[in-house]
Amino acid sequence: AERRRTSTSRGPGRTSDDHPVKLLLNIGSAADLAPQGVDAEGVGLFRTEFLFLDRREEPGYEEQVAAYAAVFRAAPGGHVVVRTLDAGTDKPLPFLGLAEETNPALGVRGLRVSRVRPEVLDTQLDAIAEAARQSGAEPWVMAPMVTTVGEAADFAGRARARGIARVGAMVEVPAAALRAERLLKELDFLSIGTNDLSQYTFASDRQHGDLADLLDPWQAALLQLIADCAAAGQAVGKPVGVCGEAAADPLLATVLVGLGVTSLSMSAPSVPAVRESLAAHSLAQCRDNARLALGADDPGQARKMILPGW
Ligand code: PEP
Ligand code: MG
Repeated sequence: AERRRTSTSRGPGRTSDDHPVKLLLNIGSAADLAPQGVDAEGVGLFRTEFLFLDRREEPGYEEQVAAYAAVFRAAPGGHVVVRTLDAGTDKPLPFLGLAEETNPALGVRGLRVSRVRPEVLDTQLDAIAEAARQSGAEPWVMAPMVTTVGEAADFAGRARARGIARVGAMVEVPAAALRAERLLKELDFLSIGTNDLSQYTFASDRQHGDLADLLDPWQAALLQLIADCAAAGQAVGKPVGVCGEAAADPLLATVLVGLGVTSLSMSAPSVPAVRESLAAHSLAQCRDNARLALGADDPGQARKMILPGW
């Protein structure tokens, strides 16, 4: 038993019957990549906000290049999915000069900031492309809060013009999930941000403690949207991952794999338990779990139906 534990506590993510599932890291800076190395296959979500927060002025191009190159060099296997700036009046940045909003979560945030300050995104994409050249990495780049196919196409055009080879979008808004198939005509991959996708699907502020039951990632309506995105990805052979908190729940991870997602991205401490959980389930068991969870009327029922086989 001890030997089996060791064999599943490191290495690439896979089910007991060897179906691969990339286990990736959510990070905010190079400092989150421990010097001794983290046992993951790359970075699935590099939140770039850290460079911008608490700043009076926009960080310069050179400073951005250095920060991104440091992450590209330190990442396991050199694989990094960079998320462009996710700011707005919910995460206010004085230098953006955005107007005050009564409803910031529904306002100018994420990719929408580029409607009013397109040069901020352009500089960031320039810096990512230059950091890639300097470090020899081939980062994937995605935008937060993509809502329409037109936005996805515009973002992809700007990223590809700079030589960025893999361009994607976060799926955080139900409108995007409903159009996943069309989005994937413009993009190379999707990454589902379940924190915001829950917030917008259940009309429940993600910080609102009293609404935790609605924000539970075992909610079937959320899982249905994930299933639709994963099916769209499978139909065209493009990666669709999950990078929100849902990916860090070891039992829910089996459900997500059963729904067809190709990667799970989480903070480093969550990786070993998710890896062990996948290694203890076959792909068929993951699909059974997915079917049960999709059929449940509430998260408690979903967990109860799946746990006996756990
Ligand atoms: C998400 O919304 O699920 C996500 C991963 O992005 P963030 O938590 O940074 O909004
Ligand atoms: Mg988000």
